[in-house]
Amino acid sequence: MKKEKICLKWAVVIIVLLLSITSIKFNVVGNDPANFTYEEYIEYLRTLPYFLNGTILDGTYRVIVNENGTPPDDITPEEYDYFISVQDFNNTCETARQQFRGTYGIDPYPPEFYENVTEDMAYDEWQNIQHYNQSPSGSPGPHEIDGNFLVKVFPAKDSTNRPFNPQQRYQDTKSGCFWFLIWYGVYPEYLYYYGFWDASDVTPSSGNFLQDLYDDCKQYRKKDNQILFGWVYDGPNAGNSWRQDFYAVAEEWNFFSHKRVAQHEVSHCFNAPDHGWWLSFPCVMSYWWMWFGWFGWCGGCRNIVWDQIWNWN
Ligand SMILES: [Zn+2]
Ligand SMILES: [Zn+2]
Repeated sequence: MKKEKICLKWAVVIIVLLLSITSIKFNVVGNDPANFTYEEYIEYLRTLPYFLNGTILDGTYRVIVNENGTPPDDITPEEYDYFISVQDFNNTCETARQQFRGTYGIDPYPPEFYENVTEDMAYDEWQNIQHYNQSPSGSPGPHEIDGNFLVKVFPAKDSTNRPFNPQQRYQDTKSGCFWFLIWYGVYPEYLYYYGFWDASDVTPSSGNFLQDLYDDCKQYRKKDNQILFGWVYDGPNAGNSWRQDFYAVAEEWNFFSHKRVAQHEVSHCFNAPDHGWWLSFPCVMSYWWMWFGWFGWCGGCRNIVWDQIWNWN
């Protein structure tokens, strides 16, 4: 009986020792993503392979995505390597994401930046807000055809500029443009051009990105109801677009909610002016109201956008 008690004591001591050694080991590893700041998270992800490596979405193929996976009439087979549905696109991303998490113990999709804004980060972004350039082409700009318009979304494909979360950026573009249906009765459609745009050949600034999107991808805009929307990870601005023209870009590393930025920049394409930090009337063209998540336009912008979409000729 006595001997058994001593054995039990020793067993407890050994278990406690083992447990503490294991917990020391865990502490020493210290790469727990849960403790990372946003910057550390991004830095660490950049040391790992791209999560979509080994799939058709690794940036080496030109992949076009739409809701049903059927190419529209005006897109020829020479223009792409694969044409897939949104469902296939999401499945490919989710499978790769799960494998990546299993291998590296970290989600390849970083937490959304705007949910993790520190004062320093916000200050940098506020300093550099620049929202549109007047249309360089002097074109009449985009408008409806048969009651709809088409947003062609081009995430950058190069390792420096590509967004970390391609699924969410596509969804954000859709969520932002949805409000054109509600307010103007014009039906938005989408195509995702994955692996087309290489933005690594310009010095990062949203003006340069915008020009580069135009230079590299303008051949994919075939009708006057089509807008090309580029996504990059980071540059000095939240977004940029050419007013009353067909091109816009936005950044994933963003002070604002991405869907509001998409809505704001596409509104510039439809000729809406920029309101700066204007507080007077609720409008998505004012940074304050965008910051609050406001999704409507003021009366002045509504008239301008309506005319651009419906009374263009
Ligand atoms: Zn603006
Ligand atoms: Zn307005």
